[in-house]
Amino acid sequence: MREKLVLIGNGMAGVRTLEELLKLAPDKYDITVFGEEPYGNYNRIMLSPVLAGEKTIDEIMINDLQWYEDNNIKLLSGKKVTRIDRLNRVVTADDGSTENYDRLLLATGSRPFMLPIPGSDLKGVISFRDIADVDTMLETAKIHKKAVVIGGGLLGLEAANGLMIQGMDVSVVHISDVLMNQQLDKPASDLMLEELRGKGLTFLMEHQTEAIIGRDRVEKLRFKDGSEIDADLVVMAVGIRPNIELASSAGIHCDRGIVVDDTMQTFDPRIYAVGECVQHRSQTFGLVAPLFEQAKVCSNHLAQMGIARYISSVTSTKLKVTGIDLFSAGDFLGDDDTEDLVFKDAARKVYKKLVIKDNQLVGAVLYGDTVDGAWYFQLMRDGTDISDIRENMLFGQHHLGDSGHGPSNSVDGLPDDAEICGCNGVCKGDIVQAISKHGLFTLDEVKAHTKASASCGSCTGLVEQLLASTLGSDFNDTPSKKPMCGCTDLSHAEVKAAIIEKSLKNIPDLMSALEWKTEDGCHSCRPALNYYMLSSWPNEYQDDPQSRFINERVHANIQKDGTYSVVPRIWGGVTNPRELRAIADISEKYNVPTVKITGGQRIDLLGIKKEDLPKMWADLSDAGFVSGHAYGKSLRTVKTCVGSEWCRFGTQDSTGLGIKAEKMTWGSWTPHKFKIAVSGCPRNCAEATIKDFGIVCVDSGYELHVGGNGGIKVRATDFLTKVATEEEALEYCAAFMQLYREEAHYLERTAPWIERVGLKHVTSAVVDDEVNRKRLAERFHESQKNAQVDPWAEHAAKYKDNYIPIKQVV
Ligand SMILES: Cc1cc2nc3c(=O)[nH]c(=O)nc-3n(C[C@H](O)[C@H](O)[C@H](O)COP(=O)(O)OP(=O)(O)OC[C@H]3O[C@@H](n4cnc5c(N)ncnc54)[C@H](O)[C@@H]3O)c2cc1C
Ligand code: SF4
Repeated sequence: MREKLVLIGNGMAGVRTLEELLKLAPDKYDITVFGEEPYGNYNRIMLSPVLAGEKTIDEIMINDLQWYEDNNIKLLSGKKVTRIDRLNRVVTADDGSTENYDRLLLATGSRPFMLPIPGSDLKGVISFRDIADVDTMLETAKIHKKAVVIGGGLLGLEAANGLMIQGMDVSVVHISDVLMNQQLDKPASDLMLEELRGKGLTFLMEHQTEAIIGRDRVEKLRFKDGSEIDADLVVMAVGIRPNIELASSAGIHCDRGIVVDDTMQTFDPRIYAVGECVQHRSQTFGLVAPLFEQAKVCSNHLAQMGIARYISSVTSTKLKVTGIDLFSAGDFLGDDDTEDLVFKDAARKVYKKLVIKDNQLVGAVLYGDTVDGAWYFQLMRDGTDISDIRENMLFGQHHLGDSGHGPSNSVDGLPDDAEICGCNGVCKGDIVQAISKHGLFTLDEVKAHTKASASCGSCTGLVEQLLASTLGSDFNDTPSKKPMCGCTDLSHAEVKAAIIEKSLKNIPDLMSALEWKTEDGCHSCRPALNYYMLSSWPNEYQDDPQSRFINERVHANIQKDGTYSVVPRIWGGVTNPRELRAIADISEKYNVPTVKITGGQRIDLLGIKKEDLPKMWADLSDAGFVSGHAYGKSLRTVKTCVGSEWCRFGTQDSTGLGIKAEKMTWGSWTPHKFKIAVSGCPRNCAEATIKDFGIVCVDSGYELHVGGNGGIKVRATDFLTKVATEEEALEYCAAFMQLYREEAHYLERTAPWIERVGLKHVTSAVVDDEVNRKRLAERFHESQKNAQVDPWAEHAAKYKDNYIPIKQVV
């Protein structure tokens, strides 16, 4: 007969232990689970995204009722165990039901700590712990306006963010002057504070709540300094306490938590405990990563293998608030025996602090730029001697020795045993092996096989990078599954494929053939469809100006005061006195208030009234200028340095090559803006390694770089290949642009596109396959035949009436 195992607590740690046990000894026990909550097993971490409206409850279920049935587990949900009779080995629940056990597993989690202040029992004062709390918050947000979150820790901020997204005015009350003081130091907290204030949250720092006031329902909060604030809802997120009530009442040894040894066994050898309810070597827990390690150890002992020990290890934390990049691990504060390496760029909102002790990294806080978090964490866990890399390590893994030619994909540089998913302890090697061995293609498949990215989701980007670099061109997951917009269920990729397959040559035909849900589409799909039509049928499709964004419609950049900016094309950044004189005269003629040199080596004429645009364009055309397309999803600038013509270091004529590249590519529409640069030597004065296509001239030829961008998230290029001649450089440039034009989704820059499809895909299409490269380049040149028409000249001549105001409103 099988032994009986009873689990009390149907949460994350307890059920994970069962999952691990089923892998090791599926037939050893008859299993019964008691859960106080009336659900299957769900991902508590994901309650924050549910509150923020990013996920539904169904989406965060880890094991639904069917899973229990499939594994012959008796689930008694909605039943709270109130008594453990250790002598007779039987547990009793609040509805009187009982269950005998041979082994008992306690995983009762924590109870949120509620401040013992007057009014904390009023209606509308809640914690943030379970589905019921989230339901209450969502319901309250429908009818009430003012929410106060007490506690500026991880949980409090996630609650505040979610409530704000649900439309409430949210104030966060925090006792310290540092937000998330368990994970952040003051400078990082200050940056975060500024960013969260910018999002619309209000903060009352260094405020201590004295009382919650209201008759039946909460109405106000009063602070120690006597000030008050209105509140319709109060969420307390001030900490958790291990839930030891039941264990303690059964005479099991407890301190702050249920005391367990390294095998997760309690004082009673038949009873084990895992999760937030336990205390192990004086430590209690509040994140899932250590709990899942405990689950592994405990299942090993329940399976009577007896070879695992739990030794707590360093954990890392990330905040699940969209748009806030934050990583914290280990001893991030340090003490008299540690040293700090600190980098702060307040303008870019980037802060990094590394704490070092005896030449080892022992703690890290990263804010704003967290790409190297996994690498730092690995150094920390491995106890690596960092003396050799100390000088450059703050700038990240890429800055160690190689600047540009190495893998720019941060995950590529990690060793196989680097931990990618902190929650589930999954290493890079496990993921790569699972992808190759089981033929996995999508994030969901990786989640299902390895559990990586299945918990808090903050490693999703890294897992996607691994999918991309392992699968190369075969990886095409996330965007392909996402509908283009609400007007269709089809993804960008499906729509593009249908345009070719069904030979759809105009937007109305496309909408009818693909059963568009709206009559005319929307602001999101129309520009994309217009672009897909143009790129698919360059000789046949008639551009639809109404499907373009305002800047492209008026061929100038609209500025914040409603005026426009006009940027003439300056080939390769080279001009002459005659052109400069013309620009000066035209600027005076139209009273241009600001003349500015741009970062792309152009002259920007700012502050032009819409009705003056055609006249100015006509004058600029007469002086020999064409539009610089500074407004378009198209080729923008080709930046150059002075190269061999003037510079002592120049190896080739970078200026001349830049001009050739610009003359070849101007006027071409692309999924997003596209920038090129040519530098005359590896000193790289034209910054070619942060451009969509960069050429770095070297003695023996031309190094070609792709996928760089200097936008919100700076990305250095990937090294594509090296060629010997200018002609080849131009051919690769045309082929690369065409591949991007044909394959990227509209509004996807080259950087995310390459990260999505993988560099291997680009290399095999453009470098390895010569025939394909030549075909791509040919198609590029073919479409350029119709594209190199100066829109300014055209509009100044044909459409100038479009720019006359219908009525002047004073
Ligand atoms: C909103 C939110 C966001 C979070 N975000 C993160 C994050 O980003 N990263 C991270 O690592 N961690 C995060 N956490 C913490 C993480 O969810 C917990 O560490 C983890 O859920 C604890 O697992 P557990 O099994 O110990 O407890 P729980 O998951 O709480 O499970 C305990 C279960 O036991 C049940 N129970 C208790 N007593 C009894 C009884 N007597 N009879 C029957 N059932 C009982 C409870 O109802 C509960 O369902 C977050 C937590 C919350 C609430
Ligand atoms: S990149 Fe080289 S060639 Fe060009 S200006 Fe700089 S140093 Fe001179």
